[in-house]
Amino acid sequence: MCKKIFSIIAAVFSLMFFSCSKKNALPAPSVKGSENVRITATFYPVYIMLLNITDSVPGTQVSLLAPPNTGCLHDYQLTTKDMKAIAECDILVANGAGMEDFLDKAMEARKGQLIQAAEGYTLIEDNPHVWVSPDGAAYETRRIAQQLALLDKKNADSYLKNAQEYVQKITDLSKKMHASLDKYAGTKIITFHEAFPYFTKEFALTQAGTIEREPGTEPTAKELAEIISLIKQAASSGEKIALFAEPQYSSGAAAVIAQETGLKVYELDPAVTGELDKDAYLKAMETNLKVLETAFTGAAY
Ligand SMILES: [Zn+2]
Repeated sequence: MCKKIFSIIAAVFSLMFFSCSKKNALPAPSVKGSENVRITATFYPVYIMLLNITDSVPGTQVSLLAPPNTGCLHDYQLTTKDMKAIAECDILVANGAGMEDFLDKAMEARKGQLIQAAEGYTLIEDNPHVWVSPDGAAYETRRIAQQLALLDKKNADSYLKNAQEYVQKITDLSKKMHASLDKYAGTKIITFHEAFPYFTKEFALTQAGTIEREPGTEPTAKELAEIISLIKQAASSGEKIALFAEPQYSSGAAAVIAQETGLKVYELDPAVTGELDKDAYLKAMETNLKVLETAFTGAAY
């Protein structure tokens, strides 16, 4: 009997100790020495960076929350499966800067194991599409690697070395893009949604307008008319202007604008969907470079 009472008291004490220690615990180092590291990326651009940063690092498992064809997360609906994945991963990597607003509570709950790639980058009007410029992609890659190195110290050197190699590839590509695009500085472009402010800033292009002002919402007749008039105005003053849709969205509105203005519609890729291949971002930017060269040399005005 005595033994039984003792074991009950011991159980109560251990329970008290457990709940106490949990309450007062410091943010846990997310990954212990010998464990596998399960890293979850919220969406595609961050996932591609992680494929590069964790390349050949033993014991790292990178998964993608939103399916790779999702595109930007502006209208993303969180599923129960997503919540489970967020709760179970060791490290959650988000773009941040408002791209994952729908995840606010979940990100708060995982804040000790959360990396926000865009944190610290100088934002343009709170726009989250930082990765679309090579400069932004390089920044986010470095930031993810630095934070991963702090959370998973045993692999720190590998993450940092991989990030450095990937950033070098991005920088080389950026130089190639500048060599070709700098002569078009100031050229006006119209893009599908507001995914390109960092890209246009890096290459000194002028964003003359966007087709969808609210992502996921078709432009109104009035908005379409405004863009058409803007293009016609540019044409009458002899300015070059190029029109771009995005591979992720239907280009119905862009086709209407093209029909009304005689401009050709080109596709500019914000690299937000694609193959699950670590070079996918570099390939998307190579394609963007070719598209821009074609569009600018062939621009109607
Ligand atoms: Zn977007």
